[in-house]
Amino acid sequence: MTGFTGRDNNVALQNFGVVMDASPDALLALAADGTVLAANVAAARLFALEQEAFTGMDHRQLFGEGFRDDVAQLLDLLHSLPEGHPTPRDVTALRRDGTEVPIELAAALLPRHHEGTPTTGAGITDPAGARLLLSARGTAHRRTADANLREAMSLLAATLESTADGILVIGTDGSVAGFNEQFLTMWGIPPELMQGTSDEPVMQLIVGQVADPVVFAARLGELQQEPAAESHDVVEFRDGRTFERYSRPQRVGEQIVGRVWSFRDVTPRRRAQEQAQQAMMDLAVQAEKLRAMAFQDPLTGLANRAVFNDALAESLQEPRLKTVDVLLLDLDDFKEVNDILGHQAGDDMLVEVARRLRGCVPTADVVARLGGDEFVVLLTACPDADAIAACIVRCLHVPVTIAGTVLRPSLSLGLASLGQDSVGPSELLRHADIAMYAAKAAGKNRFLRFHPDMMQALVQRTHMEGGLQLAVARGEITVDFQPIVSHRMGQVVQLEALARWDRDGERIPPSVFIPLAERTGLISEIGAEVMATGMVQLAQWLSEDPSRSLAVNVSGVQLQEPDFAGNVLRLAEASGVAPYQLVVEVTESVFFDADCSLIQQLSALRDAGVRVALDDFGTGYSSLGRLQDLPVDTVKIDKTFVSMVRTGNERLPILSSMINMAHSLGLTVTAEGIETAAQADYLTALECDSLQGYLFSLPEPGDRLHQALHHAGEALSALKGR
Ligand code: C2E
Ligand code: CA
Ligand code: CA
Repeated sequence: MTGFTGRDNNVALQNFGVVMDASPDALLALAADGTVLAANVAAARLFALEQEAFTGMDHRQLFGEGFRDDVAQLLDLLHSLPEGHPTPRDVTALRRDGTEVPIELAAALLPRHHEGTPTTGAGITDPAGARLLLSARGTAHRRTADANLREAMSLLAATLESTADGILVIGTDGSVAGFNEQFLTMWGIPPELMQGTSDEPVMQLIVGQVADPVVFAARLGELQQEPAAESHDVVEFRDGRTFERYSRPQRVGEQIVGRVWSFRDVTPRRRAQEQAQQAMMDLAVQAEKLRAMAFQDPLTGLANRAVFNDALAESLQEPRLKTVDVLLLDLDDFKEVNDILGHQAGDDMLVEVARRLRGCVPTADVVARLGGDEFVVLLTACPDADAIAACIVRCLHVPVTIAGTVLRPSLSLGLASLGQDSVGPSELLRHADIAMYAAKAAGKNRFLRFHPDMMQALVQRTHMEGGLQLAVARGEITVDFQPIVSHRMGQVVQLEALARWDRDGERIPPSVFIPLAERTGLISEIGAEVMATGMVQLAQWLSEDPSRSLAVNVSGVQLQEPDFAGNVLRLAEASGVAPYQLVVEVTESVFFDADCSLIQQLSALRDAGVRVALDDFGTGYSSLGRLQDLPVDTVKIDKTFVSMVRTGNERLPILSSMINMAHSLGLTVTAEGIETAAQADYLTALECDSLQGYLFSLPEPGDRLHQALHHAGEALSALKGR
């Protein structure tokens, strides 16, 4: 109000009315007693009164009844503190129509020197004696703005509290300006800590939780230097949680007043991501394993059949390749290793074979295991496949200790090469297969190159199977008898029945048709035929002397028959042969995967008096130590041991131990394959119980039995005479 004072008071007063009317605020000039002396245009508008109507009014009539005391207080305050500027009051203006409008009311004292001076100001007729000036301003617009602000604020607060993010606002001075509940929860900050005067404990609590406090603090420092920067980073917690941290400057207008931090717990999301990643990795590993399995033999690590087939097909399509060789090999007598030493030993053997094989052919295109004990090698551009084949046979035949037993793996290998005429891949493999069978038939532990003649052999083999099926029915199976002598008793004590097959005038050796009969199951029929024929043809000879006996070879397949023992005993009874005059010869291998029914069959026979002989003793992979566990009465020492006796002067402890061992177990011993007197003498000296072999007689048919017995007697006498 200093504008109303001046050196020239008259001029000021003249202008008073003009100045008042120019003000947007309602102005009321009051006398000392509170009577209104003048009002400006804005006042007329605010109170809805003619400007003239104000003059002489009690100012209190102009304010809402409830606010008149406030107005009085304002004026009292003004009088008591003339130099002060009391804060404006929020009151209401009472309009002529009785309505009230909110106003902000200020008051000021007027200087006294214009007293008595008339004025010509518009609307203010006589402001002389005015002591107070009231200034009123409508606040209706302010109230809506306030309400809007409050609403906005509550909305903001509700939003901040409902968000999953933790929010912290830090002023530029570094003090905490605001935060939400979530912020406290996320950082585990007790609310009372935030009320404290110092931010230090809060900061300590925060920094103490992060995995890398140094980086965390450094980032804060950096941002303090750059108030306008926005930030986004990840904070790792010591307890394994992960927060995303955003921050942006807090502005009021253009001014930056602080920084808003927002923290989001992304631990579950990150864990889910990690799990997904782990699952992907596991899947990749599995896929890799599956892929490897699809191409690899799991036992030996060699390639599998699929890989070989692909490689072979590919090599045959490659016109530049002049040579393609397939070497197919199969271990000899692998089944025995498996049966006798167990599957683990079998597996060990296959692994060792694979290792050696790979060593033999480092430049091979593929070395694969086709399954079981069958392997194949593919060579392309190999100058001398025969040399490689020979090398494989040689290298594999080196002894190896498996399951405590020294074994000499041996294999039969068939070699087929891409010749001048184009052959398909399956044909090449088939040729190798035929050659391999030929190698087996030729005595195993060797390789043979495919030759078209071998096809003939194959045809014969197939042909033979058909023939064997009809052999019994056609009467082609006959029996030869070979004498077994007792040197001590000086006579033939036993005859072994040996099957013979004459087919279209051609004699097929038992070493060919017996394995075939065993594979096809025909051995049951053939064995029964041999047994029946043997009993019938020897019934007479046996009846002459109860110490004489008939030995019959029995395959494992036959012992699987549920009523084998019963059939044998019935057959004996029907032929008039006493069971104790019967010997069944079995090989060791029947015992290795022996089930109880097989043992039961043998027990039933032995209970009836039938004796059991262990044929070909010493071959195979079993040890002498097993002998005591087997339900046998006799061992037949295989001819390979007998053949070691040449001059009769050699020391052969293996023979003496075998015989001693058998004797100590109460078993009798027969030596097979005696061809020379020296062998007969040697075995007799070792107290072998009986002898068998060409020295005494070849196997002879029933109608030549007499000659066979005679020859054996002669040979015995000759021995005695030495
Ligand atoms: P095995 O049971 O060991 O029969 C003895 C084999 O040795 C017979 O061969 C016999 O002729 C032969 N042999 C006898 N003395 C001598 C000798 O001094 N020197 C040589 N080098 N060999 C001699 P064969 O008759 O060819 O029989 C071969 C195999 O066939 C038999 O061996 C036997 O395992 C099997 N076999 C023969 N007949 C039957 C049968 O009816 N049933 C069954 N399951 N197998 C049979
Ligand atoms: Ca035999
Ligand atoms: Ca034998």
